[in-house]
Amino acid sequence: MITIISFIARLLNNKTRDKRFIKRLATLLLIITGLFSSVYAVEVISSSEKPILIPLPKEVKWGEGQFIVDSKTVIGVGSSMDEKRIGEFLQQELKDIYGLNLEIVSGKRLYREKKTILIGKPENNPLVNKLCQERNIFLTEKKIGREGYVLLVTPKEVMVTGNESQGIYWGIQTLIQLLNSTGEKKIVIPTVKICDWPDFSFRGVHLHFRGVKDNSFAKNLIKNVLAKYKINTVVLQIEESLAWRSHPELGGSLTPESLSEIVKIAKNNFIEVIPEIHSACALQSGFRKGFHLDLAEEPSPPYVNYCFSNPKSYKILFELNDEVIEIFRPFGGFRYFHIGHDEITLRGGKPGSCPRCKATGKTPAQLFAEDVKKHYEYWKKKGVKVMMWHDMLVKGAGTGHGGPPFNIADSLPLIPRDIVICDWHYGPECPSQIEYFQKKGFKEVIGCTWRNPYNIWNFTNKAKRANALGMLNTNWVPAKSGHFWGFFHIIYHADCTWNSGRRPPSELPYDPAEEYRIAMERKPVKKEDAGLQFTVDLSPYCNRSLKDNYKFSGWAARGPKYDLKTFPTGRIRLKGILFDIAKGEKNVVMLKGTLIPNLPKKVRGIKIGKKAKKLIFLHSCAWPTAEKKLVGYYRIFYKNGGTKKIAIPLRYGYEIGSYSSFWGIKKAKLVWRGKMESGDSIGIYAFIWNNPFPEQIIEKIDFLGMETPASPALFAITGIKP
Ligand SMILES: [Zn+2]
Repeated sequence: MITIISFIARLLNNKTRDKRFIKRLATLLLIITGLFSSVYAVEVISSSEKPILIPLPKEVKWGEGQFIVDSKTVIGVGSSMDEKRIGEFLQQELKDIYGLNLEIVSGKRLYREKKTILIGKPENNPLVNKLCQERNIFLTEKKIGREGYVLLVTPKEVMVTGNESQGIYWGIQTLIQLLNSTGEKKIVIPTVKICDWPDFSFRGVHLHFRGVKDNSFAKNLIKNVLAKYKINTVVLQIEESLAWRSHPELGGSLTPESLSEIVKIAKNNFIEVIPEIHSACALQSGFRKGFHLDLAEEPSPPYVNYCFSNPKSYKILFELNDEVIEIFRPFGGFRYFHIGHDEITLRGGKPGSCPRCKATGKTPAQLFAEDVKKHYEYWKKKGVKVMMWHDMLVKGAGTGHGGPPFNIADSLPLIPRDIVICDWHYGPECPSQIEYFQKKGFKEVIGCTWRNPYNIWNFTNKAKRANALGMLNTNWVPAKSGHFWGFFHIIYHADCTWNSGRRPPSELPYDPAEEYRIAMERKPVKKEDAGLQFTVDLSPYCNRSLKDNYKFSGWAARGPKYDLKTFPTGRIRLKGILFDIAKGEKNVVMLKGTLIPNLPKKVRGIKIGKKAKKLIFLHSCAWPTAEKKLVGYYRIFYKNGGTKKIAIPLRYGYEIGSYSSFWGIKKAKLVWRGKMESGDSIGIYAFIWNNPFPEQIIEKIDFLGMETPASPALFAITGIKP
């Protein structure tokens, strides 16, 4: 316990502003207090595992055998344009990622002698129809609906069908997750029958374009992450970023053409686009540059609001709306428009305080309601529904910003009930107000999350129980490559909104960070070749047991309830990789840390003596530390390379995590998930290092620590022969 207390004291002394670090501390505290202890048995990710599908489908029945895709396989599509387009999408994916160029056939050219991937609705594709009848597949059954699909893989054929194109497209995305590259222009698909449909009809992601100049990151994110994980809506917040033709003084440098491209990509991937102009922010950006100051409600910076009583405010705002309508026109327009309207009394905002507003004799709440109605009427005439954030409409702690002195929440009875309320809460124990708004008569209410895993898990489950319209994952870092790691949680949001209540954060069989990296890189997921793997005997160097005791001399010195005795030792295969973990008293090579001082700072000369194109390090830290902190490194020595040596840095949260990590390890691979005696989940990651000199013999490796709290520990090294 002393070590724990001193560890926490160290954390608190550490002047870190890293939210993830604090989150980890919170997780750790939960582990320590045993709040999360449960009675589940140890669960091990089996080595002959089936692919992990994200989102988790509703019904999956694995079969025996596999379907082999090779250059002779054809894609047989139905007669509609959408079905052809979906076929082309699959064709392109197979070409880009696996180098296979398959022919697309339709109409009379659909014949059954060839091995075919059948795509389409039964009424558009006779072979799909026939197969559905043979297999008693009825799309009217269950809740398949608009977005559901049936995916069938047998050794002879593959079929993806559904009631609507969007569902068929989601089925193709699941099919892509089933593909296993064999590395020789052949792809293996395990036989399976999947029947799947979403929990929520609205599964959205909000992207902010503040300071974003080009659309490349957003396009990649939409195509490779949102579409892949079946997100069906994207909200684009653009007021400060679009280069407005009518008002260049208000916007940024994202061109209308760039926005058009984003909309096009989304639409092509069956994703609905909702534009957002936070009206207050739109004019605020002009005020700050000295424009339109006659419309500023507050007389001095930061000029939060525009005047709700001045018709000129709306002339400008509606000119921006008109431009958005023009950009979206070629794509069939949009059904919803988001007007923002959050936090208008924060940071010096004083709605209703200017002489013009005061002269009306109306309260700030009345002025606010009139303002919302002006936007609402503008869009209603155009057949578009309005969305807004919820916080100005509620009083109280947390995100209720409608309380004194302005009491904007008093406007609630005056707000049209067909406005969609976006109820946002970002803490792990989010106090959902979805039911509050439903009781007030709002039919469409959406829960909004951000990046905390328990925020996403808890809020989505509450929204499901409240029968909400759906969930919107908000992202307040700009949608550009500099914020690459700010978006991986979207994958978990997608998993929860498609099939809620199934995968709590600590028991995820995948790490969203790893999935996100792979999805954005667009590389085939290849199994490491079993025939080329060799293991390294670490037993001569092992200095620490995976088991702990009440002398606190094992594993993390946290006692037997929090040790790693459930982790298998000996020769084991995890995620297709063979590892050799020393049996007996000492199982790992652990380095000194500030919390476990009685260990060596470095272990030199781990003998390898072989060539390798990759080395796979199975490792973990005994304790968490700050994200990106260098906790140690490996130094590689080549036999004939003279003094040539390479250092491989181990940064916490990148190449290495702690055993209590459940997500966010960005450059490593989750290979095992289990539980401690306490019932808490544990995860072990492997880091795969690509050797730049595969033709040289690696003589030895040094394992060097940095004396952080982390105490890195090496379990096994596996090499892949060149
Ligand atoms: Zn005013």
